[in-house]
Amino acid sequence: MERMQSCITDSNSPNDDHWMTLDGPAMSGGGVKHAVHWFRRDLRLHDNASLLAAARQADNLRCVFLLDCQLERHQQHRYLAANKWRFLVDCLRDLDESLRRLGSRLFVVRGQPLEAFRRLLPLWGASHLSFEEDCTPLGRDRDSAVTKLAHELGVTVLRGCSQTLYSQQVLMQASGGELPLTFAKFHRLLLTVGSPPAPCPSLQDEAATLPPPPPPLTPQLHPGFHRGLSNSFSNNNKTSSSSNGNTCNAASFIDEDAFNLPTLGELGLDQDEANYQPTPVLIRGGETEALARLTRHMERRSWVATYGGKPRYQSQLLMPSGTCLSSHLAFGCLSPKLVYAQLTDLYRKIKGGSSAQPPPLHIYGELLWREYLYLTAHANPNFDRLEGNPMCLPIPWCRDQAAFGAWSTARTGVPWIDAIMTQIRLEGWAHPYCRYSAVAFLTRGHLFQNWEDGAKLFEQLLIDAEWPTNNGLWLWMSGSAFFQAFGCAYSPVIAGRKLDPQGDYIRHYLPQLARLPTRYLHEPWLAPPAVQEVAGCIIGRHYPAPMLPDLDEAAESCASRLRA
Ligand SMILES: Cc1cc2nc3c(=O)[nH]c(=O)nc-3n(C[C@H](O)[C@H](O)[C@H](O)COP(=O)(O)OP(=O)(O)OC[C@H]3O[C@@H](n4cnc5c(N)ncnc54)[C@H](O)[C@@H]3O)c2cc1C
Repeated sequence: MERMQSCITDSNSPNDDHWMTLDGPAMSGGGVKHAVHWFRRDLRLHDNASLLAAARQADNLRCVFLLDCQLERHQQHRYLAANKWRFLVDCLRDLDESLRRLGSRLFVVRGQPLEAFRRLLPLWGASHLSFEEDCTPLGRDRDSAVTKLAHELGVTVLRGCSQTLYSQQVLMQASGGELPLTFAKFHRLLLTVGSPPAPCPSLQDEAATLPPPPPPLTPQLHPGFHRGLSNSFSNNNKTSSSSNGNTCNAASFIDEDAFNLPTLGELGLDQDEANYQPTPVLIRGGETEALARLTRHMERRSWVATYGGKPRYQSQLLMPSGTCLSSHLAFGCLSPKLVYAQLTDLYRKIKGGSSAQPPPLHIYGELLWREYLYLTAHANPNFDRLEGNPMCLPIPWCRDQAAFGAWSTARTGVPWIDAIMTQIRLEGWAHPYCRYSAVAFLTRGHLFQNWEDGAKLFEQLLIDAEWPTNNGLWLWMSGSAFFQAFGCAYSPVIAGRKLDPQGDYIRHYLPQLARLPTRYLHEPWLAPPAVQEVAGCIIGRHYPAPMLPDLDEAAESCASRLRA
């Protein structure tokens, strides 16, 4: 049977060092090597260096995903996060299917990382633990704690770096330890650093099968069983309850069925939510879908060729297209390095450029903004708040529950804003222009509410929410960091008319307004009573009256508070 290990001796195979960090002895020498690969935000088989290294070298490989504390948070905000959980389940299912095609499977462990690994690594007799680095401050702390635990247990850790295009250490070294405080400076830094490393080969391209998971755990078969069991449970009366309510006991770790994929019901979604029919609008998760979207993205060759041209405003632009990549990048079904590499190839094909001439950075567009926000957030644990965040201006925002509630539940009475918030709630996605509008209205534009609350809500609702990107864009769009000089006052009516001139977007998400004539759609409170009657939409009854009696006055009041 063709196996991964044949690749170790293949002189053509790229060197692991290029992508990898190794904490502990390499997988050489005698003894059976049991590797555990811990999937997190790298739910894919392509460009996954630590998985590749583990697969190349281990005798047995167990692929795990931990359903951790997020589960608890989800249960508190059950309805809000339904789209995200569906997306995650799609991703896990797709990953499991891909692994099964390679003779392996995904083991889903219910528990929190430290607690679960303290029990499982010895129980499974693991010699190696591999994972892709999480470069957010919280993720890094968790990974350090797990790495420390692994060392204590004598387990070697293999770490890859693929959440971003560049390793943040490399960028910080190149910048002399100074964070580039503007995007222009970041661009200049990238010019000195050069192109990011190429993605590493995909598992499927290397071999037809993976090292199999070890045989099911029994006291007779598994060498680590007695040691693991006694270490794990002696202090816990053989049972412990994790903070998410999942009971971790010896039996549940031995029963292989306990590692099955989660169901939507288990995640707290009710029957209707669980039985949803995917529509073209709801984005499906998983590496297979992500790669198909990437192909479609690249097929839009004109996108690259005409990049920099002004977009044509039409409501279709505001709907998720078949090429949206952000959710897949956020969950790691898609590697940013793969997107970068394919954009480079495409650019060269279109422009006929030689490899000696790297493409201009602007063709990578928003991918570099993502990179920039990851870099600015990487050493700032307070990036998501005003307090203790050196980047954030201390603007004296208000906290008014009623105002925040109206905005967050699409009851502001301003159709453009309510349509956006409805889309975000229903579909877990909105076009960047729409997100800008929602942020501006809540913060500097009209309501003057603290951006932290809006950012938290987006994090719960948006499938593509990434801690650095989401908080970075809230900081920016609220005028709290990066770029504060938002010249003219922001108007949700003008913005709505510009982006949705025919009102198709508003009609789609706010069907109660659908029969209003287009000229009143963005300001329905101006429609005469007879028009409202004919349209079947009485303002104040079928759709809220505007929460702000005078939008211009509110905008002016915000502007003067910001100037103060
Ligand atoms: C308040 C606010 C919060 C946001 N939060 C997120 C978030 O948590 N995660 C996220 O991926 N995007 C976020 N965005 C950016 C943007 O809205 C989405 O990335 C975009 O809607 C994705 O569409 P696309 O995949 O077609 O992007 P494309 O335009 O095709 O861009 C390619 C990729 O670049 C990244 N990207 C796109 N726009 C931006 C941007 N402005 N800044 C940084 N990276 C970007 C995404 O990963 C995206 O998939 C936010 C925007 C705003 C205004």
